[in-house]
Amino acid sequence: MKHFPWMVFILLSIVSCQKRPDSVQIMTVNGPVEASEMGITLVHEHVIVDWIGADSTGYHRWDRDEVVGRALPFLLEIRESGVNTFLECTPAYLGRDPFVLKELSEKSGIAILTNTGYYGALSNRFIPAHAFEESPEALAQRWVDEFENGIDGSGVRPGFIKIAVNPADSLSALHQKIIHAASIAHKKTGLAIVSHTGPDGPAFAQIGILKTQGVSPTAFIWTHAQGGTLEGCIKAAQEGAWISLDNVNDAPPAEPGMPGAVEWYANRISDLKDAGLLQKILISHDSGWYNVGQPDGGNYNGYTVIFNRLLPELKKRGFTDDDIEQILVRNPREAFTIRIRYL
Ligand SMILES: [Zn+2]
Repeated sequence: MKHFPWMVFILLSIVSCQKRPDSVQIMTVNGPVEASEMGITLVHEHVIVDWIGADSTGYHRWDRDEVVGRALPFLLEIRESGVNTFLECTPAYLGRDPFVLKELSEKSGIAILTNTGYYGALSNRFIPAHAFEESPEALAQRWVDEFENGIDGSGVRPGFIKIAVNPADSLSALHQKIIHAASIAHKKTGLAIVSHTGPDGPAFAQIGILKTQGVSPTAFIWTHAQGGTLEGCIKAAQEGAWISLDNVNDAPPAEPGMPGAVEWYANRISDLKDAGLLQKILISHDSGWYNVGQPDGGNYNGYTVIFNRLLPELKKRGFTDDDIEQILVRNPREAFTIRIRYL
């Protein structure tokens, strides 16, 4: 028994390595990072989009140096506002480019996350041919492979799953398959599911499918929840889903007497806070981007309206610095930490 103390030491070492309760991580384009380092986070933005369609897009369609040159000033601008982490939500077959994102992250000093998954909205024009035939398990395996081995030889691993469904009350068979595949990929990777959704109907249809797969609604980010009703957002948030109000912009009132966009967002966020759901709100601009095919990427919109316009409106409505930190720091951290969420 003279080796006994060593055995105890080795066993204790193994146990302490496995537990590591302090180590909760996100996956950036530069690899895993402690979630506690995320800081102020924009959860839904773009630096490049290619609208040509899944059958024609590819890396040959844009010049990486030109994209980086166009996007970088806008990232440096928000660095000044304290933004530390940025989720680039352009999916595969819509212009996703991990090489561009890695370079932008290195040059701007902002942590960037990219995604895996397929975009079904807009008549399935961005769905690759293989996805129409394959099983949910096969699709999920493609996305899990990207998480385990990186995207297209870049070494960059996705930090979340991005999908999209049509804004219809009942999901098509293909869109049911996509959310089913996302639930399988979630259970293998722990990546959160960001789903371009819009109204209440498809939000609850997707949450229903997740539940049948044993996945908690806390893994689901209801993207474009500004297209949903307040009642629907409250119900989904109470079930655990994340309410992503992600097209914050400074459009003027549609008609005299109506709220402008900034005021509308401030009111909706305030209503959710009054319902006790501040801890389920995510906000972003869904802005950008280098538009492939247009001269020098066309008209690029920045990512500053939240800082310059929305936060002052929230403060007028009694929001404290701690409330704002909840929305811009703690909620993204909780939503995008890599963790499998079983029902
Ligand atoms: Zn978007």
